[in-house]
Amino acid sequence: MPGNESGGGKVKDIANWIDGAPAPGIAWFDKRTPVDGSVVARVAEAGQAELDRAVAAARRALAGPWGRLPLAERCAVLHKVAAGIEARFDEFLAAEIQDTGKPRSLASHIDIPRGAANFRVFADTVRNVATECFETDTPDGRGALNYALRRPVGVVGVISPWNLPLLLLTWKVAPALACGNTVVCKPSEETPQTATLLGEVMKEAGVPDGVYNVVHGYGPGSAGEMLTRHRDVDAITFTGETRTGTAIMKAAAEGVRAVSFELGGKNPAIVFADCDFDAAIEGTMRSVFANCGQVCLGTERVYVERPIFERFVGALARAARGLKLGPPEDAATGMGPLISEEHRRKVLAYYERARLEGATVVTGGGVPSMPGALAGGAWVEPTIWTGLADDSPVNREEIFGPCCHVAPFDTEDEAIARANDTEYGLAAAVWTTNLSRAHRVSARLEAGIVWVNSWFLRDLRTPFGGSKHSGIGREGGVHSLEFYTELKNVCIKL
Ligand code: NAD
Repeated sequence: MPGNESGGGKVKDIANWIDGAPAPGIAWFDKRTPVDGSVVARVAEAGQAELDRAVAAARRALAGPWGRLPLAERCAVLHKVAAGIEARFDEFLAAEIQDTGKPRSLASHIDIPRGAANFRVFADTVRNVATECFETDTPDGRGALNYALRRPVGVVGVISPWNLPLLLLTWKVAPALACGNTVVCKPSEETPQTATLLGEVMKEAGVPDGVYNVVHGYGPGSAGEMLTRHRDVDAITFTGETRTGTAIMKAAAEGVRAVSFELGGKNPAIVFADCDFDAAIEGTMRSVFANCGQVCLGTERVYVERPIFERFVGALARAARGLKLGPPEDAATGMGPLISEEHRRKVLAYYERARLEGATVVTGGGVPSMPGALAGGAWVEPTIWTGLADDSPVNREEIFGPCCHVAPFDTEDEAIARANDTEYGLAAAVWTTNLSRAHRVSARLEAGIVWVNSWFLRDLRTPFGGSKHSGIGREGGVHSLEFYTELKNVCIKL
């Protein structure tokens, strides 16, 4: 019920956002915070009628006010959206923290600032990209001029996950709008709040009604699937699990709609004996445990050159034991809970599996005892294993939790082969002070992104995406234009 008190706070109503205004749905579903399991919001679930209204509004805006806006003005509006997010920074931060349970320090440094930065980067990118032009010979000697124009794709369906809600939603919405498209977004059912809040910011910034729409709900049989099946949606961009990508690709096949996919990973880190040891520990700590391990780019397999293997495992375990689990607002908190009780069951099933397969549990492996109300949250211990075979499901399947398996290796070739022995190909980290090796290994790793002596160091102008089962296409900088625009060639006979 609206206005219910739960977990000491007021339960908010989160509406859909359709044609520039909040919109009810066909039912309400509860959103619980993973910090203590209490209900913090009830969310309006969109049905087919809401989907139809949202897509129709997006279609109208495409042909109307948004489509007619000169490029410079469109980009100026998107800069205002970025400023609008910053002006309401604390509201975005509170909403994101409540939905995800992530530490305030993380959300205030990464999630919300990147939400704003995405709009600035893509607004500036589209204004500065040239298209090709060819002078073409003709038999009469007068020639012809061939030049390309970029045009919006149309109404884009945006489906986003819960791990970095505003960051990943705007990573798609910003280039889509900068390129002149309109969007209908389906944020994760776990993290509905910031998407609706962004609707208010869009309105305040002067984005015409219908350009940005949000429909809430679940995936199969709900708003997510309805969006992918909607025949008036021209293209679909999705970030989430590989299995979900497969379902969306099937739906997109009807009507031959384009897809852009950022999917799962089972990312390796390779630590050479010549690395800067402390930097490798610090970087691996972040790549394994940041956001409670719920980062698509996170490391779940660590290969360490044998001479430093024992020392590395010992130091990583000590650092992991030092991670303080706690509520988001506590400045000392190093790690929050998983996103939900359901996800905790999945992660704990891998913890159990590792034990049954005879892994050495170096640290963690269970559920921490949390005080008071926190006992009702989705907490798990940061966990490190050794001793499992490379073909164990623990080493092959994406767990998406705060855990990694560490294994020794003897040669560079062996490390590369084992790192590449996965169906995924999203990210990899390499730790070495040998420059030649850094280049050599990076070139041979099958991944969309290789970080050498760092992790999650992002430049938004660079291509971002995965190979193998980790994705289709690249987004970021000018690469986003490949998906969000159609190139049209014009041939002028002179
Ligand atoms: P998910 O695939 O379960 O859900 C993502 C979104 O898809 C949600 O909004 C969900 O409601 C919707 N959805 C689910 N089934 C659908 C269907 N049949 N049709 C249409 N929509 C559907 O993913 P998640 O659990 O929210 O996120 C975690 C996953 O996302 C992990 O696999 C992670 O690696 C991946 N991820 C990848 C990247 C990347 O850039 N490659 C970034 C972040 C997360």
